[in-house]
Amino acid sequence: MKIINMQHATKVYENGVTALNDVNLTIDEGEFVYITGPSGSGKSTLIKTLYREEKLTKGQLIVNDLNVSAMKNRDIYKLRQEIGIVFQDYKLLKNKTVYENVVYALDVTDQDPSTFRARVYEVLKFVGLAHKINVFPSELSGGEQQRVAIARAIVNQPKLIIADEPTGNLDPETSWEIMNLLEKIN
Ligand code: ADP
Repeated sequence: MKIINMQHATKVYENGVTALNDVNLTIDEGEFVYITGPSGSGKSTLIKTLYREEKLTKGQLIVNDLNVSAMKNRDIYKLRQEIGIVFQDYKLLKNKTVYENVVYALDVTDQDPSTFRARVYEVLKFVGLAHKINVFPSELSGGEQQRVAIARAIVNQPKLIIADEPTGNLDPETSWEIMNLLEKIN
């Protein structure tokens, strides 16, 4: 099954810059895909269209059976519920503990509160950070912060994980660890 199907996608920003020009891209369930290219070639724009941070100017985009290009703004949350997103700068909440950062992302609809802590513990254990559950992000290394961000991204078991330069702020060895973790999740 296709998880991403982008056809004739074009994005022109309001300042007139064409960031994407007639892009066709299909990605199947289970694939692990890298997007590479020079700075300014449109990688971030492409990624942002997948979770509707940016809307295509022209073309069609289906993500996990949702019609992203035609989606109303009020329905975007449905798309984001199905995607885990990891950023270069982690985007953790500074005044919240590791536990709080992850539980905050947990979709708690139809779930028994007694299971929240177990689920958060489970994902933190998976990324190797169960022992840091009660600390604040400032007490963690960059690699550890990215692991928390990854735990947050997978806590709802999304069909798709998107990472925009997830190792951009990390040293080479830590970068390998993070990429191995993403492979393992896949
Ligand atoms: P990459 O991630 O490959 O470096 P980007 O997607 O960030 O490329 O940028 C592609 C092009 O779109 C660049 O020319 C950039 O200046 C332009 N661009 C990116 N974001 C915006 C924006 N919000 N408004 C206007 N132009 C933008």
